[in-house]
Amino acid sequence: MISKTFKQEKVGCQLLEAGKAQPYAPGTKPQMGPVWDKSLCVRCALCYIYCPDAAISRQEDGYFDADIKLCKGCGICHRECWFGAVSMQEVE
Ligand code: SF4
Ligand code: SF4
Repeated sequence: MISKTFKQEKVGCQLLEAGKAQPYAPGTKPQMGPVWDKSLCVRCALCYIYCPDAAISRQEDGYFDADIKLCKGCGICHRECWFGAVSMQEVE
């Protein structure tokens, strides 16, 4: 049972415990979503590996992007990127 939505939590860097992203419902429009800065990205794919909803995919140029329809705005990709290449920004 989902007890709260992403809109009731602060974005990113809040999911410090294992399984804490579980209550967030994927498939609804997130309040904030990830944006990549290619100049900082080293294409290590950690963001891709850690996304709990497989919203991230590798693009033709080798960099990554998220399908906002699958993203739930949990901010894990932002948190796990060692290079600061993923920022969370408001989704229009
Ligand atoms: S974790 Fe960061 S550096 Fe690695 S592919 Fe993702 S955005 Fe790029
Ligand atoms: S915020 Fe990042 S890790 Fe979370 S669902 Fe969206 S793309 Fe995946």
